[in-house]
Amino acid sequence: MKIIVVSGGVLSGLGKGITSSSIGTVLKARGLKVTAMKIDPYLNFDAGTLNPFEHGEVFVLDDGCEADLDLGNYERFLDVNLTSDHSVTTGKVYGSVIEKERTGNFLGKTVQIIPHITNEIKSMISNVAIGSGADVTMVELGGTVGDIESMPYLEAMRQMRSELGHDSFLFVHTTLVPILGSHHEQKTKPTQHSVKELRSVGIQPDVIVARCAKPLDDGAKSKIALFCDVPLQAVVSAPDAKSIYQVPIFLEEQGLTDYLLNRMGIESKPDGLAGWKGFLNRVMNPKHEVKILLVGKYMEQRDSYMSHYEAFTHAGAELETRVKFLRMESEEIDRDVSRALLEEADGILIPGGFGSRGIEGKIEAIRYARENKVPFLGVCLGFQLANVEFARNVLGMGDANSTEFDTHTAHPVVDILPEQRSVTKMGATMRLGAQPILVEKGSTAERLYGATEITERHRHRYEINPHYIDTIQQKGLRYTGRSADGKRMEICELKGHPFFIGSQFHPEFKSRPGRPAPLHFGLVEAALRYRSERDG
Ligand code: GLN
Repeated sequence: MKIIVVSGGVLSGLGKGITSSSIGTVLKARGLKVTAMKIDPYLNFDAGTLNPFEHGEVFVLDDGCEADLDLGNYERFLDVNLTSDHSVTTGKVYGSVIEKERTGNFLGKTVQIIPHITNEIKSMISNVAIGSGADVTMVELGGTVGDIESMPYLEAMRQMRSELGHDSFLFVHTTLVPILGSHHEQKTKPTQHSVKELRSVGIQPDVIVARCAKPLDDGAKSKIALFCDVPLQAVVSAPDAKSIYQVPIFLEEQGLTDYLLNRMGIESKPDGLAGWKGFLNRVMNPKHEVKILLVGKYMEQRDSYMSHYEAFTHAGAELETRVKFLRMESEEIDRDVSRALLEEADGILIPGGFGSRGIEGKIEAIRYARENKVPFLGVCLGFQLANVEFARNVLGMGDANSTEFDTHTAHPVVDILPEQRSVTKMGATMRLGAQPILVEKGSTAERLYGATEITERHRHRYEINPHYIDTIQQKGLRYTGRSADGKRMEICELKGHPFFIGSQFHPEFKSRPGRPAPLHFGLVEAALRYRSERDG
């Protein structure tokens, strides 16, 4: 059992998730089985109730776990399917300890952070490391070293390291090297201070990954090696990258893989990054370009729709196409700027969402796409609103709506799922995770998936109201994907439109380099056609 912990110092947002995923990728390329887990020291039980504006998107796993978006990075980089065990939060740790205490498992002992909480953390980590059968488990510790919340985790890891040995339990510390002053000097002091902080809890890092706008110069590297007491080879430069998929290559080129394998006593195999480089090459050297417009409500925060952006990158790579994103705040749709954006777009995506803010703007964008035959993909809320728009403007049901936004509408074309009516708690109570879907033969969805039985991830409480199915279908919006029992509408396609698809599920979560989400691929493909026809 080999474990590599990735912690962060100086400040948050250094890309520990990409660092963990990239280290995993280079190790995997040497023939090792790699898995990854994330520790989020906040008290929430899971990410399901967190505001995407603060934390970025909620990533959904096959088992329905609502996780931090870094789980998405691990799945995409390592091409694995993770479970809720890979997403640890303080809420889960304390929840489990308190449950054991209530059951009487601690036999009258005083329950304390050390050893009870730390033991729980250790067992959660080793359960994944052993249970997954991985050669190496990457463990990313969220937050910044020095935060009060991370203390029990660092203590648990310090203990694990002395139990397992320094060559089986390694620490990679990610820091920031700012460039300051008229000489554009790369400043190593923040790194030195954050390593000092880590040492104060008994942990000496094995590797330092220094994030910097530029590649680290030799002076900065040796200074970090000297002051932080790590070998020069173990100081790795992680400069700003054009694509996150370049990062594994940066690490490999600096010899980090060999260093880690050597430290862990694992025999080194030649690097198998050829496939990765091929994908990267397709990402970096596109022949065509399309503009996809995203209409959402958290547009300034790129992380809120991270999996969509990645899915389009994967789709673009397979079509030798750069996907340029146009972004529109759905509340601003009636302004002139928005009109111009709609006209500029070669394809439109309405992603998932909750709450009524910006709904009318999204409906207007859907109407524009339908009437002007602009390629369109609606995901979850986007799918539901495509049905609302259709009911209002094609079926003439002027006040059609989802009961999520208007409980008194005369035409509730989107309504709460029957099993959701009695639900009162917010956390982990939606229709969540992987569900099988039957896809109609001969449909666009079938062409894109190349299958009539698929499985996709869900996260919703509302659905297409079964009472409206026939009426809507008769006018040309057809349901070409349904749940296995036939009750839930999962995919809709508009007849007579070059590409107008909606899905109740979230195809973006399963998109991978080399295997893009089929519906995103379909949108980019249609956008290419739309653009070339428009440009003549
Ligand atoms: N708010 C809608 C529902 O709960 C859509 C959810 C989503 O887009 N993820 O069904």
